[in-house]
Amino acid sequence: MSTIGELIEDSRKIVIKLGSNTLSDENGEVNRKTLHNIVEQINELIQKGKQVILVSSGAGICGVGAINKWSRKGDINYKQALCAIGQVELMMAYKEFFKEYGIHVGQLLLTRDDFADPKRNLHIRNTLFTLVDEGVVPIVNENDSVSVDEIKIGDNDTLSALTANLWNADLLILFSDIDGVYEKNPKDHPKAELIEEIYDIDGLLQEIDTRGTNQFGTGGILTKIEAARRVNAYGIPMILANGKKMDILRKIADDAEKGTVFFGKA
Ligand code: ADP
Repeated sequence: MSTIGELIEDSRKIVIKLGSNTLSDENGEVNRKTLHNIVEQINELIQKGKQVILVSSGAGICGVGAINKWSRKGDINYKQALCAIGQVELMMAYKEFFKEYGIHVGQLLLTRDDFADPKRNLHIRNTLFTLVDEGVVPIVNENDSVSVDEIKIGDNDTLSALTANLWNADLLILFSDIDGVYEKNPKDHPKAELIEEIYDIDGLLQEIDTRGTNQFGTGGILTKIEAARRVNAYGIPMILANGKKMDILRKIADDAEKGTVFFGKA
């Protein structure tokens, strides 16, 4: 078993984040096959006695899929309206897939203010604990329809780190469309080397080039590294892996695929 495999094995409370790039296919539509496979893997974790909270992007893409004619409208009202529509589509897909395993899902749409306010914090925490204790998988997303720039968390990497800290998770797993952190953007530099274990984030940032995101991504690699910093500060390790690859959790556990682990300073 790989280091990652041991980490997953030893963790009971796991937060998993899915990025827009993981969920979308090359036409910008929701990749139901990938989504189904991720749900299947989450079920396997639950069957092993683990608890899982999912943080999922993808409302915008689902919205475009549902109401194609709005896709090119750039103004904020339409963008937020599209997310409102897409969030329903996204949850319908999750509900359908989790139902195959007899698992219920619950939706939490959050903004930055919710984490800043101690009372709201407590309520989120209690809701998460209650859902998970009852065997329900909470699915968290930013409340895009109320979030304008000033009150936005802005990306689900940060949201998933805040969620992991709030819930006292044992592990945070981010799924993106790359295997992990490379010395340079692997999309532009196919020969760039993967960094498998990271203990010193400041040192890492001096070493690597972090420029470039994808068409649907919002955060880029930098927000993933900052998410690792946030959870590492609470002693929670973070794995970054390629959620587009089928059965990725099993494969990284068996060393058949690689990923990056952020351990934080010992
Ligand atoms: P997601 O939608 O999964 O959150 P993003 O597009 O926001 O993903 O961020 C991941 C992208 O960051 C990768 O697809 C990659 O093109 C880009 N990137 C830039 N620099 C790096 C790097 N040094 N290592 C890995 N990925 C990088």
